[in-house]
Amino acid sequence: MAGHDYDLFVIGGGSGGVRAGRLAGAMGKRVGLAEEYRMGGTCVIRGCVPKKLFVYASQFSEHFEDAAGYGWHVGDIHFDWPTLIANKDREIERLEGLYRKGLETNGVTIHDSRARLIDRHTIELEATGQQVTADQILIATGGSPNLHTDLPGHELCITSNGAFHLHSLPKSIIIAGGGYIAVEFANIFHGLGVDTTLLYRGQKILGGFDEDLRDHLQDTMIAKGIRVICHQVFDRIERRDDGRLNAFLSKGEQMVVDQVMLALGRHPNTHGLGLDAAGVETDRRGSVVVDDYSRTNVDNIWAVGDVTNRMQLTPVAIHEAMCMLETAFKDNPTKPDYDTVATAVFSQPEIGTAGLTEAEAAERHGDLEVYKTTFRPMHNVLPDRKEKMMMKLIVDAASRIVVGAHVIGPGAGEMAQLLAIPLKARCTKDHFDATMAVHPTAAEELVTLYKPTYLVRQGERIAA
Ligand code: NDP
Repeated sequence: MAGHDYDLFVIGGGSGGVRAGRLAGAMGKRVGLAEEYRMGGTCVIRGCVPKKLFVYASQFSEHFEDAAGYGWHVGDIHFDWPTLIANKDREIERLEGLYRKGLETNGVTIHDSRARLIDRHTIELEATGQQVTADQILIATGGSPNLHTDLPGHELCITSNGAFHLHSLPKSIIIAGGGYIAVEFANIFHGLGVDTTLLYRGQKILGGFDEDLRDHLQDTMIAKGIRVICHQVFDRIERRDDGRLNAFLSKGEQMVVDQVMLALGRHPNTHGLGLDAAGVETDRRGSVVVDDYSRTNVDNIWAVGDVTNRMQLTPVAIHEAMCMLETAFKDNPTKPDYDTVATAVFSQPEIGTAGLTEAEAAERHGDLEVYKTTFRPMHNVLPDRKEKMMMKLIVDAASRIVVGAHVIGPGAGEMAQLLAIPLKARCTKDHFDATMAVHPTAAEELVTLYKPTYLVRQGERIAA
């Protein structure tokens, strides 16, 4: 180990890489970290954080509408996109500085450079041509948007990366995809007053989520005025003489819009990393193949986060990094725990979910009791906003354990974080029933659902 420049070299300064570098530095390890762009990775620079700031910005249009029901008169309202972008950029710069400082104060040597593996212990820093060696190497290079290069006119489209830096707010946009990013951005742009269309190849948005959440969200988005087109894809995109775009859809419709955004999944950043030179195996998608401990087929090289084909979520990448350090440096082999990972979709209304969908639970547990409620949250009553909230608990009938909890409505993301705790602890429905309500809240519904709404037997819903 002493013969190498570093005990650990991390490639990639995103959520997983920074956490691994910082903690290894705090353990007294000699750590180097290379980042080619900005410290913080997708989450901080062009993902979760700026997205959430955009979500807040986009919610004001409804807040202004609702204000009248509470007696407020809001005068002329005006939204200024450059102000939002400038304030967002300032906050991202602040966070980036904190990430960098966290590494520096823990003695990590930062290389502002793209890095490439030369062999299983050697890394070349492209900015300087310098080569350094490390005993252990962690690949944490993340992923990037699928550019859909097969689509004629794909170069005229933006991805989520571009959406954070548009010079002006478009008047109209079509977003392709039905996953987290497409759905979140459709709601952001709609909330900011953009004429928004969502184009999805499947039957219903948000594949993989509980069916009731999918139905509720899709119906609510349509009711708000977002056009949702299913069972179609783009045929081609062309630039018009007036600078706008012609989007040709697969069933023949032609739409004229200011922007087209592709949110069609993300690819692992493995190209040009020197994985072949180091003998590191990748899969068909190009993701780094790892074992249960995040170790690649080369035993001193590890990978965490979106560059591997696991859950593409920031907290998961961070958890994987911490487990990797336990295994590699503390003689405490630790597998990341993927059971009951809660997640939120910052759509409007927001989704929060923990545990199994009804379909997954039926397959895994057989007989279920399902407790479901749909109601108008109190906040919506005075403004006469029709939008409803839905909550659903899925209970394994045999053990009474709550195996799934799904919420759509205001605060659902915050609720999902808290629901993940009793679900992780395998609490039963009786624990929920024995918990005193917090009144008046929306979340109190979760502990006052005394009678099942329906049962599930062999995958079929039957009356309770
Ligand atoms: P997702 O995997 O969530 O969704 C991709 C969407 O693109 C799917 O609807 C998919 O359709 C569709 N699609 C893929 N390829 C094509 C194609 N060739 N033609 C037409 N449609 C296509 O990816 P996202 O890009 O939305 O997000 C990437 C990841 O980032 C997510 O998996 C998530 O883990 C993470 N993320 C998390 C967030 C959060 O926690 N709130 C927010 C944003 C991102 P189909 O369903 O038919 O496969």
